[in-house]
Amino acid sequence: MPLQLRSDLTALTGYHSPQIAADVRLNTNESPYPPPPGFFEALQRALHEMPLHRYPDRHTVRLREAIAHHEGVPPASVFPANGSNEIIQTLLLAFGGPGRTACVFTPSYTMHTHIAQTVLTPVVEVKRRADFLVGGDLVAATVAELAPSIMFFCHPNNPTGLAEDEPAVRAALDLDDMLVVVDEAYGEFLGTSWAQEAVRRENLAVCRTFSKAWGIPALRLGYLLGSPAWIGLLDQVHLPYHLNAFSQVAGMLSFDFVDEMRARVATLTSERDRLYDALAARSDLTVWPSLSNFLLFRPVCDAETLWRGLLEHGILVRNFASRPGIENCLRVTVGTPAENSCFLSALAAVLSAVKPATAKLGFGVSSPDSLGSSAVCDEQL
Ligand SMILES: *Cc1c(COP(=O)(O)O)cnc(C)c1O
Repeated sequence: MPLQLRSDLTALTGYHSPQIAADVRLNTNESPYPPPPGFFEALQRALHEMPLHRYPDRHTVRLREAIAHHEGVPPASVFPANGSNEIIQTLLLAFGGPGRTACVFTPSYTMHTHIAQTVLTPVVEVKRRADFLVGGDLVAATVAELAPSIMFFCHPNNPTGLAEDEPAVRAALDLDDMLVVVDEAYGEFLGTSWAQEAVRRENLAVCRTFSKAWGIPALRLGYLLGSPAWIGLLDQVHLPYHLNAFSQVAGMLSFDFVDEMRARVATLTSERDRLYDALAARSDLTVWPSLSNFLLFRPVCDAETLWRGLLEHGILVRNFASRPGIENCLRVTVGTPAENSCFLSALAAVLSAVKPATAKLGFGVSSPDSLGSSAVCDEQL
């Protein structure tokens, strides 16, 4: 008999979307720019001196110090790992598990739900308000009804692009026995952060990553900022030597190129605003403002048709046509100026070719139950 997947996981399959070949890939919120040549040269020099026959620094001491210096926090408040996804998994292993509930506000990053399920933490998905914010009242109602052990926020939220509203996060933080996780994967685009608060409080975990603004998702590196009171407990659940020597050095060297990172963020931010203005000027779609490197929009026509049409023009965007809460939406990552211009002209071409007869005029926001069980994750990003 062939091996059977753990029965509670069989409903979750299909979250890996195939990577589709396209000339212009604007579907996974990566930076269109690699780090500068100086970073690669420094990394190569470091590789030559790396004692590859030895295990890496188990406690990632020098990387922790470098991150602490960059963030202006004590090293004991830092925990680096293989991308923020591993951080989320580590947090759930330590503070979730059977009998404890995790809560996510949807639409948001589906990996929060997916990772919780893989580590046997029951998840409850609570629908955000129509403006995609959470608000203090919804946090209070959720806590009263579900008493979760862990509550996830995403600041700014993927895929809606907005910052989390402060009253919601504050309402969650007021509960001392609940871990509040704020995923700041796009924090460099936002400018505001819960990082300093995470160091002072004992129930806040902020996750940051090198996968977006820093431009090195291939190296799988992220970090957690939290209280020294519990960060050491994570050593109970992560694998020994979890972070390889190469990634540790790459993280440290990244901080020698902060100015270049900030310049990339500035370019992408102004391109995002250009894209937003162009989309907002169209009467055949709705676009949401974004404080990130992507834009969520809903065409009046069928989104699936538009998504395919863009792909025929060599442009791949993220398809949320059937994602609850953002039905009939697509998400475009901000690319280089040339890529963005390509996207805009392909969009205009496809939309003008869509027959009005197939248009779904008046597509509105759906309103499923506010408290529902977790849905199937359809893709990682
Ligand atoms: C892209 C993204 C991440 C990045 O995950 P890594 O494991 O660090 O690559 C984390 N959270 C959100 C919300 C993201 O969109």
